[in-house]
Amino acid sequence: MSGPAGMAGASSAGRDLRTRPVVRQVRPLIDWDHVKAEGAAWAKRKWADLPPIKKNFYVESTATSSLSQVQVDAWRQENFNITCEDLKDGEKRPIPNPTCKFEDAFEHYPEVLKSIKKAGFQRPTPIQSQAWPIVLQGMDLIGVAQTGTGKTLSYLIPGFIHLDSQPISREERNGPGMLVLTPTRELALQVEAECSKYSYKGLKSVCVYGGGNRKEQIQHITKGVDIIIATPGRLNDLQMNKCVNLRSITYLVLDEADKMLDLGFEGQITKILLDVRPDRQTVMTSATSYLKEPMIVYVGTLDLVAVNTVKQDIIVTTEEEKRTLIQEFLRNLSPEDKAIIFVSRKLVADDLSSDLSIQGVPVQSLHGSREQFDREQALDDFRSGRVKILIATDLAARGLDVRDVTHVYNYDFPKNLEEYVHRVGRTGRAGKTGVSVTLMTQADWKIATELIKILERANQSVPEDLLKMAEQCKLQKGKKDSGNGARNPQGKAKQFY
Ligand code: AMP
Repeated sequence: MSGPAGMAGASSAGRDLRTRPVVRQVRPLIDWDHVKAEGAAWAKRKWADLPPIKKNFYVESTATSSLSQVQVDAWRQENFNITCEDLKDGEKRPIPNPTCKFEDAFEHYPEVLKSIKKAGFQRPTPIQSQAWPIVLQGMDLIGVAQTGTGKTLSYLIPGFIHLDSQPISREERNGPGMLVLTPTRELALQVEAECSKYSYKGLKSVCVYGGGNRKEQIQHITKGVDIIIATPGRLNDLQMNKCVNLRSITYLVLDEADKMLDLGFEGQITKILLDVRPDRQTVMTSATSYLKEPMIVYVGTLDLVAVNTVKQDIIVTTEEEKRTLIQEFLRNLSPEDKAIIFVSRKLVADDLSSDLSIQGVPVQSLHGSREQFDREQALDDFRSGRVKILIATDLAARGLDVRDVTHVYNYDFPKNLEEYVHRVGRTGRAGKTGVSVTLMTQADWKIATELIKILERANQSVPEDLLKMAEQCKLQKGKKDSGNGARNPQGKAKQFY
């Protein structure tokens, strides 16, 4: 026999491989419909026998339902310009009126009202008043608001009510009902503190984070908890080792989801979500796509706006002069002041804190390479006022909620403007005013133009040196662009010198 068919079964030994005809195997086409159907059947099997979820607990108060559209619009405008949008495909749902008083949201939950009263809060914050009627209805929500705006209680209180009002009892549920994922241990501990402070009907919570005692965390979970507050890495570890049951979760929160993605937690979050029932309710405090037909509530515009309760000073200087400037700043602080000094790297944080300690200035520092115990101690010292100066890197300070910070000192300029706005927002909180001082060097010139916009929007004065930097930036850009224009037809830049 000759030809490819005949050769197929013959041994190739002794034959010249170069002359051997190539037999291309035709790959079978993938039957995607079949693959999808198999996937759906698998998911159905995986999630069979789940108890039902109840999600809607909202009864609109008369005061809320009788607000006119004009009143609602005016109220949203006055409350940091709240905007809402329904991201559901097809027919849109009505955006509920805001609950302007605590009673409007929780009149049927006297225990909630009692603990809010005990805390001494006057009224719901903007994010709370618009988020509560949405979340209490059982809808998914993306809340775009910064730390310090009361966002934690905007998801915790509806979560408490959700957990306590499920058709099956907590014992039958056989595992936690609420999971809060956060990007950092500090934020996890802060959420846990809020959870315990406003504890509802004896709901038990545990904080699960890398650096904390793993054995103790497992013991806690095994004893039975209702709420887990976790960083993705440690929870992933416990999940893989079957130390935690995630099937019972019906209320999921991704706090500072954008930061978790920035820090590269996407893979771990995806793995965690594989074990959380898909028909859960999900709340997220910044925008991406883990939700089903969410409503979105923005507090403040999406443009970067630094709070205008903070006076923002910018000093253009050199690396060498920074030490002198910070000394001057510290000398001018009064004994009641509390300052966070932001630096770009752990090394600078260590350097600066040992320098200041040697000079007899009591400081604490917060960065990723410090032991967990030391980090907690640092925060504790700063919160309680035992130490008035905290030196921190961005990561460690993310989501930090210390109420009485009077000054933010940007020793190094942050890596982007979003971070600048976050840092500045660590002061001027809860109705108080604050001051931020930012050192910039020529290395930061690229950011000058955008920074000017932020300062102008917040009615701050723009120093001459910063304007010059922006001008320089424009010139450089112009040169670069005209350089591109002078490219020869082959696309190579011409050699001018
Ligand atoms: P958060 O944005 O969740 O970090 O909250 C910042 C701080 O505001 C926390 O200490 C809360 O206890 C507090 N807080 C929450 N809700 C209110 C409210 N309605 N009025 C005043 N303070 C509040």
